[in-house]
Amino acid sequence: MVLDVPTLLVVSIFVTAVLGLLLIFAWIQDRSIQALGWWGAAYLLGGLSAGMLSLQQFIANALVIDLASALLFVACGMSWNGARVFDGKNVQPFAMFAGATIWLLACQIPGFAESSIGRIVVSSLIISNYTLFTAFELWSGRAEKLNSRWPAVIVITLHGVVFPSQVPLTMVLPGDRIAAGLTNGWIATLAIESLLYSIAAAFILLEMAKERTERVHKEAALIDPLTGVHNRRAITEFAKQILARDVRPTKPMAVFMFDIDKFKSINDTFGHPVGDKVIKLLAATAKKTLRQTDVFGRLGGEEFAAFLGNTDEKGAVIVAERVRIAFLEAAKVVDGIKIGATVSIGVTFTTNYKDEVDALLARADEALYEAKNAGRNRVMIRSEQNVQVPASSLVPDLPAALSEPVTTR
Ligand code: GH3
Ligand code: MG
Ligand code: MG
Repeated sequence: MVLDVPTLLVVSIFVTAVLGLLLIFAWIQDRSIQALGWWGAAYLLGGLSAGMLSLQQFIANALVIDLASALLFVACGMSWNGARVFDGKNVQPFAMFAGATIWLLACQIPGFAESSIGRIVVSSLIISNYTLFTAFELWSGRAEKLNSRWPAVIVITLHGVVFPSQVPLTMVLPGDRIAAGLTNGWIATLAIESLLYSIAAAFILLEMAKERTERVHKEAALIDPLTGVHNRRAITEFAKQILARDVRPTKPMAVFMFDIDKFKSINDTFGHPVGDKVIKLLAATAKKTLRQTDVFGRLGGEEFAAFLGNTDEKGAVIVAERVRIAFLEAAKVVDGIKIGATVSIGVTFTTNYKDEVDALLARADEALYEAKNAGRNRVMIRSEQNVQVPASSLVPDLPAALSEPVTTR
């Protein structure tokens, strides 16, 4: 197979330009992923660079070639910054132009400008450095689980490692062989490798962006915008998971319903925005007190629910009391205003994994209703058999128990 560099360059111009436009269009459709804009612009710049290089056939101008290479290095710097932006890091403008600057300065040195080896070594190192740093940025964002992140890291790393392979070859070959190699040998092979890499990378990056968008939408559908905790849909979904996975005759699950006391009058007295802050405060306080594995969220208004796997009656009462007391303390003064908000909590249990989430919430709601009737700012309990249970029968010395670790948790 004869690999013709000028033809490859023409193909590269069109392919990179089309991929650049594809990335730009994807960015226009979803501006939240700015990295797509960076990557798209980098591809277009890469296409421009290839265009300038292909002019070499008609006008052999050293300055055009030097500038074309510099543009390619800026494109690599932009791809790297795109990877940073994708994972919420800042743009590094100086480092982005560093490769091009080093190159243009080196081109001013007479010996360098004429040395094929020198030019190949420096340009390969610049490209491979930016490429490996791009892979590193994507790897360092791996806490966000995206399926396409790993192929992206692998493909980009491979390119970063393969690309400078021409450096040792350049070193061992005599000068006249280098000239021959430039026209058809490994330069053409590397041009093909770069072209295939560009195509693969663009599609993997697009896939990563698509996965990110899907993840963000999925999460948004499960989060309550005011408090940032789970919404009713998420609570129901995750509670079902605990029921199926953890609830057994010997492993009870506790269910809490929370409702802020006299909330209408808080709204009426201090205004809706202050009411919102009190709602957020309850969300934050409960979240701090509960375990990470507990399901907690906002059902609506000033009502919240929690599902605590592997938690017996005594443990549940202690945790509910802890939330109640923590909120009592935290809501005494909100934003410098004396509010003194309190919360009532209804608690129930199940050891039957076949129970329905809504039925459990309804039973906890009955306990909550009793807490309201009994004077608010308290925890009331309904057993699995839907019988009211006094907290004192479960935890005889509550004040002492509150400061002790909960054994079943
Ligand atoms: P109780 O002690 O019996 O619970 O009395 P309450 O006043 O809290 O009664 P209720 O639970 O019925 O009141 C709920 C109020 O919550 C009514 C509604 O105006 C208010 N509310 C619902 N959603 C929001 C919200 O997102 N923000 C604010 N500030 N208020 C809300
Ligand atoms: Mg209510
Ligand atoms: Mg209320």
